Amino acid sequence: MGAKVKVRNPIVEIDGDEMARVMWAMVKARLLAPHVEIDTLYFDLGLAHRDATDDRVTVEAADATREHGVAVKCATITPTADRAREYGLKHEWRSPTATLRDLLDGTVFRAPIMVGNIQPSVRSWKRPIHLARHAYGDIYKNHEIAVPGPGRAHLSFSPSGEGKVVSCMVQVFEGPGVLQGIHNTDASIESFAQACFAYAAEQDLDVWFGTKDSVSKTYDARFRDIFAREYEANWQARFEAEGRAYVYDQIDDTVARIMRSEGGMLWACKGYDGEVMASLLAAAYGSPAMQTSRLLSPHGGCVYEAAHGTVQRHYYSHLAGEESATNPMALLFAWSGALRKRGTLDGTPEVVTFADQLEAAGRATVESGIMTADLLTVADPHPDNRSVGTEAFLDAVAEQLERMLTGDA
Ligand code: NAP
Ligand code: MG
Repeated sequence: MGAKVKVRNPIVEIDGDEMARVMWAMVKARLLAPHVEIDTLYFDLGLAHRDATDDRVTVEAADATREHGVAVKCATITPTADRAREYGLKHEWRSPTATLRDLLDGTVFRAPIMVGNIQPSVRSWKRPIHLARHAYGDIYKNHEIAVPGPGRAHLSFSPSGEGKVVSCMVQVFEGPGVLQGIHNTDASIESFAQACFAYAAEQDLDVWFGTKDSVSKTYDARFRDIFAREYEANWQARFEAEGRAYVYDQIDDTVARIMRSEGGMLWACKGYDGEVMASLLAAAYGSPAMQTSRLLSPHGGCVYEAAHGTVQRHYYSHLAGEESATNPMALLFAWSGALRKRGTLDGTPEVVTFADQLEAAGRATVESGIMTADLLTVADPHPDNRSVGTEAFLDAVAEQLERMLTGDA
């Protein structure tokens, strides 16, 4: 075996929970340790340690990401009442992903891992559809009132400084009903727009954005206008010179066009649209284990992770001594994404090449018919197809990688 590839600057490593944590250690031991020398800054976001540190470890991981630029994160448990009991927690700590996103003012981008022997449910999709989800405000920070009976509902705003109260009648209720107040801020929409155009420029993708401004003439229209302003001011010249486009439409038309497209764009979505469409895309591309996720901060800093969670059901089978059959592809791609980014920032092409080879080895393994059970049902039928456990799958990837590194493949 040749000399190990040396990663020049540190990568922030954020460990997690359950089956994802088990696979994390396997990916590192089998695919990384033999070939790369990485100086990682390790943060243990396993639930027990988050609880022991009163979740300070999550804030420290975010600070380190801001300082060093590149992080890779394992899936983590978002505490619920059940989890609080299971782990004897002091508190139901917030979702680490949400904390990191807020601290880094980041946008989450999802992209599928495509392989030759798994066809998306939509036949026309030849290339990955990347999706960005705006994650501030709207219904996720709403206030709601259950209207008990007849009465009047107003929407009003009182300025902190000079100026008069602005208000309007929402509805004169003649009987019971419901009422909802939502908001967004220009600052958040602007940083979302910046993150989308920056990601698309880096990945060489068109940007598609849709809202319902034909109905929501102030609220959704603000999203439209901020995107247009950001595009014209900072990206249009570069996009046009490099042959990329920004396409804006009504959300329903955007959905229809996406369905008939070949893929290969960044689809920017408002929060709720993004939640729904990310789930649809993940299912349409075959398996939750074939979706990557990347948090990008406009102030620098990215966190690479798998889109799936900790795979609790598999973890309990694993603890019960059953052979695990969880798919580690998205975790492998989280590491390769972080390595590629680190190599690009550091100007170390050998690190970028290794990241490419790692991904190619993962894809080639699935394409050779060796896959975990989740993929067997969605892969093109072939006599060579067989489902293997997580460790056997990683061994096959390791062999493939070995062949690629020694020029045998
Ligand atoms: P999940 O961990 O994504 O798993 C849901 C189901 O999807 C699994 O039971 C399994 O289906 C399938 N699946 C997901 N990943 C797979 C993989 N790599 N290989 C094979 N099958 C896979 O979601 P969850 O069960 O809703 O959540 C579990 C925990 O993860 C929760 O505590 C949640 O808070 C956390 N979570 C964390 C993140 C994050 O850190 N980014 C994201 C989401 C959820 P089958 O059981 O049918 O095999
Ligand atoms: Mg969701």
